Amino acid sequence: MGGLGLIFILLMFGLGGALVARVKGNSVVLWFLISFLVPFAGLAAAILARAEIEEPRRQCERCGRLLPVSATVCAKCGIDLEFPETILPSVRDERAATRS
Ligand SMILES: [Zn+2]
Repeated sequence: MGGLGLIFILLMFGLGGALVARVKGNSVVLWFLISFLVPFAGLAAAILARAEIEEPRRQCERCGRLLPVSATVCAKCGIDLEFPETILPSVRDERAATRS
């Protein structure tokens, strides 16, 4: 046991978080790190986090990048975002629409 055992346990948490994120279509690296650094709460957050593909989207008015509707800052150009006038369907809804 000792330090190595602890790292092993943290890695297991990290992998768990990454796996959950992968299933949901969220960032695997991000959730690996969160679950690794904050073992219990991080993994719980990964499980509770809304799947990104289920979240309605909006478009940045400056650069046109598609962002989750809850975003307050554009991930690409960094401008502050007002609440969007137009809300776009989520990735999942869009996929469902093109499939039928
Ligand atoms: Zn932008």
